[in-house]
Amino acid sequence: MAENNSSSKEKALFGLDKNPSNIMPEKLTLDSKIQFRCHPGVSCFTACCGNINIVLTPYDILILKNRIGIDSDEFLLRYTKPVFLEKTDMPGVQLNLTAEGRCPFVTDEGCLVYTDRPSACRYYPIGLANFHERGDETEGKEAEQFFFIVKEDHCKGHEEDKTWTIREWRKDQGTDVRDEINRGWMELVMRRKSHGIQATLSEQAQKMFFMTSTNLEKFKDFIFNSSFLDVYEIDQETLDKIQNDDIELLKFSYLYMASSIFGTQDLKIKEEKIKAKAAAMKEGQAGAVDRAEETYKELKRDYDQLKKDIDDKKAKGTK
Ligand code: SF4
Ligand code: SF4
Repeated sequence: MAENNSSSKEKALFGLDKNPSNIMPEKLTLDSKIQFRCHPGVSCFTACCGNINIVLTPYDILILKNRIGIDSDEFLLRYTKPVFLEKTDMPGVQLNLTAEGRCPFVTDEGCLVYTDRPSACRYYPIGLANFHERGDETEGKEAEQFFFIVKEDHCKGHEEDKTWTIREWRKDQGTDVRDEINRGWMELVMRRKSHGIQATLSEQAQKMFFMTSTNLEKFKDFIFNSSFLDVYEIDQETLDKIQNDDIELLKFSYLYMASSIFGTQDLKIKEEKIKAKAAAMKEGQAGAVDRAEETYKELKRDYDQLKKDIDDKKAKGTK
């Protein structure tokens, strides 16, 4: 059973600032050795599947809703609750726990969705600190990456007689594949976090981010059934890929979010749209100049009239 600790735990997805008292103060590399094994025979089996915050990546949502056989809308409604990611103003979701504080997929026999379990469950108890989290956010410059181990009293896996490198352990857990697919989304969140929030995302931008990162069906519909393709220059090869392959669609969604939120050049806006926008702005500016000129003329007319009235009065007074 999960310990009933009042402070809620996190399975590490993003970095260092979670539950710091349980993080071992040692920077580990892929070649570092760890002693750990988790299997149904451990006395604490499934203890870590309760009283916990499990943030879901867009890929987790895709895999889990496919596994259960429902669409994203239903999955979000039944299994998740909204949260802000990593103390940013970017909205996402985490697994909704049962009234008993347990993961909805845990049973006495183990995890019902084990082969499709979320990324955070795969990473535990090894965290990865990276993605410019240490203030090293210069574009194009690689942030320092290292691993750390989380040791919690209830987890007896650290007492098991199995030693392997972090590289071997991560391969075994399938985290390499997750990392590759999650990277674009995690970078967006870490970028927002490390740059600091100078201006809050507009409500519209938050809705766009939420829809794009949690609901691939809706994002696909947005691409193919809105004015999206009138605005963006997307080649046919990319369109074919995102039409037929959800992983490609997912990766494309990261580019769209990066270009909408951070103004990256990942997606190209059509030339005629840029020209039309420039012409509209120019027209607006020209209109503003005309209006200013008209206002000036009116003021001048009033001023001249006032001056004439005063002069007339003065002339009458001297007579
Ligand atoms: S998804 Fe599976 S592994 Fe993850 S917390 Fe739930 S039951 Fe445990
Ligand atoms: S060994 Fe650790 S990771 Fe495995 S079930 Fe126990 S608490 Fe969870």
